[in-house]
Amino acid sequence: MRARIFGAEKSTGPAAEEAGGILTIDLNALAANYRDLKKRAAPAACAAVVKADGYGLGLGPVAQALAGAGCTTFFVALIEEALRLRAALPTAAIYVLDGLNPGTAALFRTLRVEPVLGSWPEIDEWDGLAADSDEPLPAAVHIDTGMRRHGISNEDAIAFAERLKLLHFKPSLVMSHLACADDPSHPMNAQQIVEFRALRSFFPGIPASLANSAGLLAHPDARFDLVRPGISLYGGRALIKGDNPMRPVVRLQLRIVQVRNVNKGESVGYSAEQHLARDSRIAVLAAGYADGIFRAAGASDNKKGAEAVVAGKRCPIVGRVSMDLITIDVTNVPEAEVKRGDLATLIGDGISVDDFAARAGTIGYEVLTNLGRRFARVYVGG
Ligand SMILES: *Cc1c(COP(=O)(O)O)cnc(C)c1O
Repeated sequence: MRARIFGAEKSTGPAAEEAGGILTIDLNALAANYRDLKKRAAPAACAAVVKADGYGLGLGPVAQALAGAGCTTFFVALIEEALRLRAALPTAAIYVLDGLNPGTAALFRTLRVEPVLGSWPEIDEWDGLAADSDEPLPAAVHIDTGMRRHGISNEDAIAFAERLKLLHFKPSLVMSHLACADDPSHPMNAQQIVEFRALRSFFPGIPASLANSAGLLAHPDARFDLVRPGISLYGGRALIKGDNPMRPVVRLQLRIVQVRNVNKGESVGYSAEQHLARDSRIAVLAAGYADGIFRAAGASDNKKGAEAVVAGKRCPIVGRVSMDLITIDVTNVPEAEVKRGDLATLIGDGISVDDFAARAGTIGYEVLTNLGRRFARVYVGG
């Protein structure tokens, strides 16, 4: 990857004029979102979840910007991600959510990274390492309060608490995860909060963590000692209803390859799935499903797809999304305002990540984490 620096901007990936699109990542908005969430969480501490390459936005720049905003505790999913994060942040506390892969305990120790232990075999393997080590080797323990995905059961957590004094390592955090926090009216939230509050009392003096972004925003009694927002940092929607209070972080503009006329009644794209109701002008954009613009964002005679903005006007996708191209209807844009080489905005100018996601039948998380590596990436601020 070539990196260029001009002014306050840093860019990676291909040069803007060589790329099919420009992905602009606003590190100032990211930092502002962190400070906002930290204020909401107080007196609980606020960590940052930066798994999946900082939700697709680039682990290094994202982590540096968050650390600059005062974040000292980070969560990634895999030890491989922790390795890269440690290189960027030599002193931060780093937790690995997916836990301890067999045989990787020594690497965790070398990197001073803590696994989130979610099963007895992991606890035993980590304790075995601690027994042979002079260092304290802290680690987090995940208790399953309803998600049924990761973590030891309620009963096992109590059995584990009774063994605490016999352990060679000391848990630095007990945590659990909410299954339905994005829907504040769901009864499971209260159940999990009550269960977690009871369980954490078996671990006196050990900090507790339950809330993700949605838990932090919607459930004050889920904050405990440390909150773990991810999606809200990146401007995505955490709650399925109501306003999203976060600042947008991402803008995606795609290059117009050509503008062409297509006659009324003709079809556009693979499988001829959409026919034009009028004589139209179609702009061809240089990105497609290989860049994370899901095929489900395409349109047909029976289905609307996503939209782009050109010269301030909404322009719907026409026909299927190809691997490297999409087609949009720019008939309503004055001819002088849309030409080869211009940019069409797919995310930004009033279209949020979640608006785009909804048109593709998915969520902002999936859009962000699939944003293509072929785009020129411009980091603003930070
Ligand atoms: C991904 C994840 C988070 C962050 O969730 P968001 O909904 O993005 O805020 C927090 N905790 C755990 C265990 C996670 O897997």
